[in-house]
Amino acid sequence: MQNNATNEFSLAGYRALLAGLFERGYSARDFSNYDAESSHFILRHDIDMSISAACEVAALERDIGVTSTDFVLLRSEQYSPFSESGRAELIELVELGHEVGLHLDASLYDDDAAALDEAAAWECDLLERLIDRPVRIISLHRPAQSLINTQNTLGGRPHTYQRRYFSDIGYCSDSRGAWGHGHPYEHQAVRNKSALQLLTHPIWWTGEAASPTVRLDRYLRGRHETLGHALADNCSIFENGGMA
Ligand SMILES: [Zn+2]
Repeated sequence: MQNNATNEFSLAGYRALLAGLFERGYSARDFSNYDAESSHFILRHDIDMSISAACEVAALERDIGVTSTDFVLLRSEQYSPFSESGRAELIELVELGHEVGLHLDASLYDDDAAALDEAAAWECDLLERLIDRPVRIISLHRPAQSLINTQNTLGGRPHTYQRRYFSDIGYCSDSRGAWGHGHPYEHQAVRNKSALQLLTHPIWWTGEAASPTVRLDRYLRGRHETLGHALADNCSIFENGGMA
């Protein structure tokens, strides 16, 4: 059974969620050192909206004594890992002991395997230069069905929707701010005490607990404020109130 804390999408809820897994005999591993038959969970964060939210979750994970693999988009309209603050936050994740992987949006490229492979290698190279360390694994952003449960690598690297990570072990995700396919504790893998890939998106867990739509409004207001500061810093007519 779950208590209320483990159902809440907040940092306290996240802490309680992991505590419940520990109580069930689980220990934290990563994509390179888990055993499919053992009570191992692999923490994965896809950074779809905010690297700073990922840093907040990472700070909590440091307190708990776990790390995750954090996947960053290079080509997003919502944040830039190449901005001053974005890069600083990525380095913070690295310094907290997290593995940084590439979050690849395949929809930005031609729909053929060779083009995607080349794009993955190109983006990994950019990310490696940015963080000055190897990028060893990829996660796809909103992958097409044809990219799920495959065995192929991307850009010479494994990816999180390969069969070995996606269906040979348990997979549970908080997409759209809810456990759409059931709470992790109810997952068959956890009932069997076998390995689980647990995907969470930091945006749903940070700040005051709220519904997903309220969170998105809050996120949008924050982005608007940041953009306003950047405009004021870079364009004096904005500072003077002139937009014409
Ligand atoms: Zn994503």
